[in-house]
Amino acid sequence: MFHRILIANRGEIALRILRACKDLGIESVAVYSEADKDSLHLRYADETICIGPAASADSYLNIPALIAAAEIADVEAIHPGYGFLSENEHFAEVCQSCNIKFIGPSPQAIAQCGDKVAAKQLAKAANVPCVPGSDGPIDNEQDALVIARKIGFPVLIKAAAGGGGRGMRVAHNEPSLVTGYHAARSEAEKAFKDSTVYLEKYIEKPRHVEIQIMADQHGNIVHLGERDCSLQRRHQKLVEESPCPVLDDKTREAMGEAAVRLAKAANYTSAGTVEFLLDKDKHFYFIEINSRIQVEHPVTESVTDTDLIREMILVAAGERLSFRQEDIRMRGHAMEFRINAEDPDHNFKPSPGTVRTFVAPAGPGVRWDSHIYQGYTVPPHYDSMVGKLIIHRQNRKQTIAVARRALQELTIDGITTTASLFLRILDHSDFCAGEVDTGFVDRYFSPR
Ligand code: ADP
Repeated sequence: MFHRILIANRGEIALRILRACKDLGIESVAVYSEADKDSLHLRYADETICIGPAASADSYLNIPALIAAAEIADVEAIHPGYGFLSENEHFAEVCQSCNIKFIGPSPQAIAQCGDKVAAKQLAKAANVPCVPGSDGPIDNEQDALVIARKIGFPVLIKAAAGGGGRGMRVAHNEPSLVTGYHAARSEAEKAFKDSTVYLEKYIEKPRHVEIQIMADQHGNIVHLGERDCSLQRRHQKLVEESPCPVLDDKTREAMGEAAVRLAKAANYTSAGTVEFLLDKDKHFYFIEINSRIQVEHPVTESVTDTDLIREMILVAAGERLSFRQEDIRMRGHAMEFRINAEDPDHNFKPSPGTVRTFVAPAGPGVRWDSHIYQGYTVPPHYDSMVGKLIIHRQNRKQTIAVARRALQELTIDGITTTASLFLRILDHSDFCAGEVDTGFVDRYFSPR
C-alpha cells in the first residue's frame, strides 16, 4: 500500500481525495497555486507545496512543477482528481517513467478514451450500440453532406477531442451543416488544438444516462449502476441523480453489461464512466467514455454504499476490487446539485468574491462536499463550482423534499450561487414527475 500520495488538484475534489487518504492512513501532499494559498485542503494535508502562479497553465497543468513536487515530497502515487491533467495521457506516461503511480487508467486507455472517434470504433467492435453517424473523422463538407443525407437531419457535428460541450454544432439542414462544419472545426482547433470532427445523428430530447465502472489490475470489472445527468445547461451538467427515474431493470442491466464490455475492450483499470444517450423509446446509444473520477461520483457512492476514491487508490496499489458485481445493490435515491458561483438570473455570469456568511446544510441524508468557509475568497481563475450538495433518501419524493429543505438552509452570502435556480427547478412539475431531457434547463430556465 502507498504511504504518501500527492493530490494534483484543488477545490472540493482535492479535499475529497485528502479525506480518502486520511481514512486509509495514507499521508497526503497538497499542491497549490499562489491564488489558492488559503485553500481549505492545505490545512489538513501533511505537506503543502506551491507549484506556481494562479494561471492553470503555470500551476495545476504544469507537469514539470508537479513531478518536481512529487519527487521532493517523495510520494509513491499521484491522484489527478477530475479536470486539469486527469485525462492527459502524457502526464500519466511521465508519472510512469518517473516511477510514480498515476491513480487512474493506463496512458493507452486514456488515449483511446480521449479520442472520441477511436472510442466509438472500439464501442462498435465491442457490440455496444452507438449513435448512427460517420464511422470516422470527416475531412470535407462534401463527405459531411453525403453522411447527413444518409442518416437524416438533424445531425450533430462533434469534435473528436471534445469536452465540456465545446466544438459541437447542431445542423437542421444542408446550409447549416456547411456553416456548422466549419464553425465546429475552428472552435475545436482553438479549444483542443485538434480540428478533427465527426458526425452523429442528433437525438431529439434524449436523456443523458451514464454508467459508473470500476476495474482493478487483475481483470475484474464491475459496473455500479447509472446516473441520470439530463439536467444540463448548454451541455454542462447541473444536477445528477441515481437511479434514472425512467430506467427499467432490463435496460439498466443491458447498459451495465455494455459498459463492462467496452471497458474490457479498452483494457480499462480504475474508475471510469461510460456515457449514453437514452431516446424516447428507451434505446440507448454510446457517446463517450470519461477516463477519470467524475464530479457526480457521490451520487453513485450514496446509492451503492461505496467509496470510489478509496477504491481507486486501492486498485492503483494493486489490490483487487473490494466488491463483485453481485455485491452491488442500489438502495434509495440520490441527487447532486452543483453549487456554482454564478448568477442564474444574469445569464450565469461568474460571481467570484469573498464568502461573508456561510452555513452548511445538514441532517439525515445530507452530504456537503465543498472547500469553502466563512471568509474564503473564491478566486476568479478556475472553475466556478464552490460545492456539491448530495441528498440520499429512501425514494425520489423524499429526496426532493430533503433537497428543498437543504437548499433553503444553505447560506452563502457575499457571492451569488446557483442554489436559487435549483429551488425553482425542484418546484417544476415535469422535474418532480421525472420527465426531463437534456434541453429542459435551456428551455425553461436559461433561454438563449
Ligand atoms: P462533451 O465531451 O463535450 O461533454 P458529450 O459527447 O459528452 O460531449 O456530449 C455532451 C452532451 O451533449 C450530452 O450530454 C448531450 O446533452 C449532448 N449530445 C451529445 N451527443 C448528442 C447527440 N448525438 N444527440 C443529441 N445530443 C447529444
